[in-house]
Amino acid sequence: MLKLYNTLSKSKEEFKPIHKGKVSIYTCGPTVYDFAHIGNLRAYTAADVLRRYLEYSGYEVRQIKNITDVGHLTADDIAQADTGEDKMVKAVRREKKTPEEIANFYTEAFHRDEDAMNILRSHFFPKATAHIPQMIKMIQTLIEKGHAYEKNGNVFYDVTSFKDYGKLSGNTLDNLKVGARLEEHPDKLHPWDFALWLKAPADHILQWDSPWSRGYPGWHIECSAMSIEYLGDTLDIHTGGEDHIFPHHEAEIAQSEGATGKKFSNFWLHNRFLLVNGEKMSKSKGNFYILKDIIDKGFDPMHLRLFYLSSHYRKQADFSWPALEQAKANFERIAEWRNKLQEIAKSGDSISTMEIESPGIAEFQAALDDDLNTPLALSHLYELITETNKRISENKLSAEEIKEILATFEKMNKVFGLRFSEKETEIPKEIKKIAEDRLTARGKKDFQKSDEMRKEIEKMGFEIEDLDEKYKIRRK
Ligand code: AMP
Ligand code: ZN
Repeated sequence: MLKLYNTLSKSKEEFKPIHKGKVSIYTCGPTVYDFAHIGNLRAYTAADVLRRYLEYSGYEVRQIKNITDVGHLTADDIAQADTGEDKMVKAVRREKKTPEEIANFYTEAFHRDEDAMNILRSHFFPKATAHIPQMIKMIQTLIEKGHAYEKNGNVFYDVTSFKDYGKLSGNTLDNLKVGARLEEHPDKLHPWDFALWLKAPADHILQWDSPWSRGYPGWHIECSAMSIEYLGDTLDIHTGGEDHIFPHHEAEIAQSEGATGKKFSNFWLHNRFLLVNGEKMSKSKGNFYILKDIIDKGFDPMHLRLFYLSSHYRKQADFSWPALEQAKANFERIAEWRNKLQEIAKSGDSISTMEIESPGIAEFQAALDDDLNTPLALSHLYELITETNKRISENKLSAEEIKEILATFEKMNKVFGLRFSEKETEIPKEIKKIAEDRLTARGKKDFQKSDEMRKEIEKMGFEIEDLDEKYKIRRK
């Protein structure tokens, strides 16, 4: 029985989907004004493990991850997030590109990062800019229902109109009164009201017509509008990092429940932060690494993935290079073990048979059933490795048993999502030749030829991943 910690009830609850056998997940996605840092990737990996385990458990999952290409605002520590300079606008100025170019570039970079991390692609990545009409419609409903008001072309959510405000974060209006830091806006009725629509100054680069003004939406409304558009009024699970609990997710609940009158999400899962030297990794503090930094230091994204899996998503994790080295060593141990088993299984060598104890799948499941306890699940894998290595050295395992252990591992790995590069010898020479020629073509920026060669490789049953001045080939 799967139990998940629900931020809403502040307890572990048995997971039950709304529709039998199906699960809807909404994951707050990136603001595409810069590269994702590895703290963000921890959040997306945590959501990926959730999805993988639900699929492993037999559910059909539909996951939506939004792309924020409107931009929310740089004052990300300011609780209401509706003042300050727009992140997209800042990037436009920095890179001298159009907002669309910025968004496209960083959306592609985000997909590449997720692919490199072996994060399963969400079923859809709706863009905020393509859903302005849905947001406007929802804002209109909120005004009609008395949850929002317009002043001077700006529209705000009236937090006093929603009796459950604070139910997710504990930031009820009474609690908020005490010593909270916030930005005033002259048109707000109450300091904790938040923006649904803001009138744009004439030179604001992203603006749309609306019944209230030419302007742009607040950050929170996009997730409410898009999750309802693609997953219906009530979700099974909403995920995000702990900093999104307030104000973002509290605001999403107020908007969605205010508009539909129904519960917005049954489960709220929040990962805790990735830290560096005890501090939250964040863009604004400048203490962050992106995936390229990790690769440039000679690590594989799978080392980072194993580093993430080695701590529970609901505990803070401290990033350091020695910790990543440790994850690398563990990854190599798993990879070598897997290779060895594959070789024995193929050769059919080892003869003497002896019953192997349960290869640990029940313990593995029990660990994940307990709020996705990946470190515990991994420890069962490490036990399996130690045990099989011992028995192999004693020549006590048959090829058949080894095959069974391998199958168990591949099953577990559907959830861990570790990707192993095929051994060089297993990539046919003709494929390697095309890959080398393709690298040369890419170097000459002959992308048409390089695309043709990629297709050729794919036709032969392999896939190729581009890395900086390198590539990786694996069997499809
Ligand atoms: P943002 O682009 O700021 O909206 O962040 C994208 C996702 O990463 C959100 O779910 C955040 O909560 C999450 N996040 C941001 N910083 C960290 C961090 N240091 N550790 C873990 N998750 C984070
Ligand atoms: Zn969101």
